[in-house]
Amino acid sequence: MANFDIEISEVGPRDGLQSITAIMSTKDKLAWLDALVAAGVPEIEVGSFVPKSILPQLADTHELVEHLCDVPSLSIAVLVPNLRGAQNALKTRPTKISIPLSASETHSLLNVKRDHAQMLKEIALIAKLIRSEPVCHRPKFEGGLATAFGCALEGNISEDKVVSLAAALMEAGCDEVGLSDTTGYANPTQVQRLIKKVWDAIGKENLTGIHLHNTRGQGLANAFAAIETGITTIDSSMGGLGGCPAAPGASGNIVTEDLVFMLEAMGLRTGINFDKLFEAREILAKALPNEYLYGFTPKAGLPKGFKAFF
Ligand code: ZN
Repeated sequence: MANFDIEISEVGPRDGLQSITAIMSTKDKLAWLDALVAAGVPEIEVGSFVPKSILPQLADTHELVEHLCDVPSLSIAVLVPNLRGAQNALKTRPTKISIPLSASETHSLLNVKRDHAQMLKEIALIAKLIRSEPVCHRPKFEGGLATAFGCALEGNISEDKVVSLAAALMEAGCDEVGLSDTTGYANPTQVQRLIKKVWDAIGKENLTGIHLHNTRGQGLANAFAAIETGITTIDSSMGGLGGCPAAPGASGNIVTEDLVFMLEAMGLRTGINFDKLFEAREILAKALPNEYLYGFTPKAGLPKGFKAFF
C-alpha cells in the first residue's frame, strides 16, 4: 500500500529546468534526483524526449531514467511531444509517459505546429505503440490538457471544449487525462468546476492529477480546491523552479516544499521527509547558484513542535 494520501509529482527536473537558461550538469541532476528519492518523493517527472536542439537543458533525460529505473516504487514520469519522442522514451523504462495537448488550438499551432485533429491522430499512434509493449513494463500513458484554465493567446478557454478534448484523449487510447494550468490563470472555484465536469464525461478514475502554476499566487489555493474535490496527485516543483519570464516575481509551478507543508499540516501523508527534502533543496541551490528558489517554508522553517509523518 502506498505510504501517502496525496501523491506529489515533482516536476522541477522537467518543467523547472526547461524554463531556465542555465543547463544543469547530468552529475548535479543525478545528485538532486537521488536526494529527492531519499526524501521519499513518490513521483518525479525527470525530463522530456525532445530534440537537443530545442531543449538542450533536458538532453540527458534517457540517462536519468536509466539511473532511476531500479528505485523500488518510484514512479518515473517523462514527457514526449510526439511519436518520435515516445519511441525514444520506450528505449528506456519510464513508469509514465505524458503528452501535452493544448486546449487552446492557437497555442497548439504555435507550440507544436499541429491542430487538435493532428495531435489526436498522433496520440492514437503513440497509444498503439505503448500498448504493443509487454504488460510487465508498459508505461502508463497520460494526455495532459495544457492551457485548460486559460491561454495567454486566446484568453478564456471554453470548459465544454476541455471536456470534449478529455473525452477525445481517452478515445485516442490514453490511460488517463491530466489538467494543466499552464498559464497560472486558474482560481479555486474554476478548478473544482472543471474537475467535476471532466469526471462527468470520462469517469473519476481517469482524471486523478492536476498541474498548477503559481503565477498569480493561486497555486496552493487551487491545490487545496483540487484535493477537496478528490484529486489525489498534485504536480509541484522544488523551489518553484522555472519562474515565468512573463510574470516577474512569480514562481513557476507551485513550490513542493510549501505544498508538502500544507498537506502534512492538514494531516494528509505525502510520504516525504522534511529534513531530506530541505537537503535536496540545498543540492539544487548549489547546482543552480544564479536561480532564485521560491518557498516560504524552507525560509521560515517548520513551526515549533511541528510533527510530520516521516
Ligand atoms: Zn507547467
